[in-house]
Amino acid sequence: EEEDTAEAEKDTAATETAAVSVPKHEKDFYPYILIGAGTASFAAMEAIREKDPSAAILIIGNENIEPYMRPPLSKEMWFNKSEETTEKLSFKDWQGKERNIVLQGKEKIESLDQETLEKIESAESGVKLLTGVTVSDLNVAEQTITLNSGKVLKYGKVLLATGGVPKTLPVLAGAGEGKVTTFRSVEDFKKLHALVKSADKRIVIVGGGFLGSELAVAISHYGKDKNVKVTQVFPEDGNMGLVFPRYLSKWTTSQVEQEGVVVKANSRVASTKAVGDQVELTLENGEKVVADHVVVAVGIEANVDLAKKAGLELDEIRGGVVVNAELLARRNVYCAGDMTSFHDVALGRRRVEHYDNAILGGRVAGQNMASDTLHKTYKHQSMFWSDLGPHIGYEAVGILDSKLSTVSIWTKKPTAASADSSADKKDESATESAVEKEGKRERATATPLPAEAVKVEDKEKYNKGLVLYLKDKKIVGLLMWNNFGKVDDARKILGQVYDTEKVEALVKPFGIHEE
Ligand code: FAD
Ligand code: NAD
Ligand code: NAD
Repeated sequence: EEEDTAEAEKDTAATETAAVSVPKHEKDFYPYILIGAGTASFAAMEAIREKDPSAAILIIGNENIEPYMRPPLSKEMWFNKSEETTEKLSFKDWQGKERNIVLQGKEKIESLDQETLEKIESAESGVKLLTGVTVSDLNVAEQTITLNSGKVLKYGKVLLATGGVPKTLPVLAGAGEGKVTTFRSVEDFKKLHALVKSADKRIVIVGGGFLGSELAVAISHYGKDKNVKVTQVFPEDGNMGLVFPRYLSKWTTSQVEQEGVVVKANSRVASTKAVGDQVELTLENGEKVVADHVVVAVGIEANVDLAKKAGLELDEIRGGVVVNAELLARRNVYCAGDMTSFHDVALGRRRVEHYDNAILGGRVAGQNMASDTLHKTYKHQSMFWSDLGPHIGYEAVGILDSKLSTVSIWTKKPTAASADSSADKKDESATESAVEKEGKRERATATPLPAEAVKVEDKEKYNKGLVLYLKDKKIVGLLMWNNFGKVDDARKILGQVYDTEKVEALVKPFGIHEE
């Protein structure tokens, strides 16, 4: 992190002049207001306090809980061995350490209610949190926000970190009251967990992306001894079909099926109706699936309600609020996390819906908010990760889009079936997919076979590898498959021109041949 260290030095110099040029000790004035009590706000709050240790910060969130991490809600929380662990919202992380989903840091967060807020004469040093409160208006010119109670507060700097709102499908409307739910919050987790716990449930998950795939595996695992059946329905060829190259998406599906999930790929729901206490879904091919409950996981929309009303510039293509590389939307208005369309100086304009982006972006926004002179660029590439059952875990950086050309390198030489299913028209995997254990690269030459030929027994086939995503001959994304701790190496390669002749040297740091 050389660049960051250099900037950190500059940052220290800037701390002296960090004071925000706005009136202090005025009633209802807060030098820093963070809207949305999620991951990005939490990270921003920590960064502000690091730079401006006496900062008075007000965080406002409309959930009834302190900032927490969502990732365990679709993974670890369903793998807890005891229900008590789950009840206190704890989980075992991958190292076996018990943790709580509530974010822990150095700062003490003091909970407030609106009555107490009313009595504050002048904001004092420290972090205050208002939960269960929605901010309904932002006035950029006046530097004020309005709470849903009508209360107006003034800010020095404000952060919008309002996250995203899950989408749903109109076709699911006929299912009956409460039978179809989205999944984003800890409340959603509690409800679904309670339902699945009561045994014999038929759960249908609509969507084959990050959330649908993780939840399908997690619920199926949790429900194994409770006679719970999970069916997953989505339009792509395989799980994570918009992200992984086709052959890998297909293979991932075989692994999700191994976990007990009935996967209906290439399927869409055509209609739904309530039948007794259940829901009957008819798929476009006429097939009927009965469910006690349907979870829709078909993506999110950046939550820009507040920003739109405030007249901030919106990204019509990607969704989200348009900010520059310093995460600044307008004077004294910053954005971070899922709802932010930012200028990535290496990869161009992007909106990223992952945890590490919320942490790293939140930090940069916080650092810039705490200084009138810093103007730090958000250029440290965020990572993301996922687990799908016992044989799949990955980390990634950059743009992972299955529409891009890809080059894949695997420890083992894939058998004909797997190498060739990758010979999708836009997928270059077949040309580079086979890397022998000794490190000798070999070109796959066999004739393409249908991807269905991928056999579940070939577990080791995709045990460890690397997928490069290419755009305009440049490497714009890296997927490290069952290969952890290589994110920094991946960051170094991101943006480089891809050269077939130099691929061996390029992938050396990833240790793919070393097992
Ligand atoms: P959020 O965490 O959504 O926080 C925004 C908060 O603002 C919310 O609490 C919202 O209610 C509140 N809010 C919105 N509008 C207002 C308003 N007007 N007034 C007051 N409050 C408001 N990413 C990964 O990289 N890896 C994973 O494994 C992973 N797993 C995930 C699992 C699940 C189940 C989900 C849902 C997401 C997962 N993600 C994962 C994505 C990651 O959690 C998000 O990218 C991250 O939470 C984004 O943080 P944020 O601060 O932008 O938004
Ligand atoms: P997503 O964008 O990852 O997936 C969207 C999916 O919706 C597509 O893969 C597709 O299968 C499905 N879809 C779209 N239209 C459909 C239709 N008509 N019928 C059936 N399916 C349809 O979003 P998600 O999986 O819903 O996840 C929600 C959010 O949570 C995202 O922001 C995601 O990044 C985040 N999340 C991230 C992780 C992680 O990083 N490991 C894990 C869970 C959730
Ligand atoms: P975490 O919530 O502590 O961190 C998740 C990621 O967010 C980190 O990798 C980091 O990049 C980022 N992050 C978190 N807090 C940060 C901060 N204050 N500043 C900057 N970045 C921050 O989750 P975790 O307990 O580390 O578990 C998830 C991680 O574990 C993922 O990275 C996953 O790939 C990894 N994992 C590793 C293995 C393995 O075998 N080595 C297995 C499973 C998962």
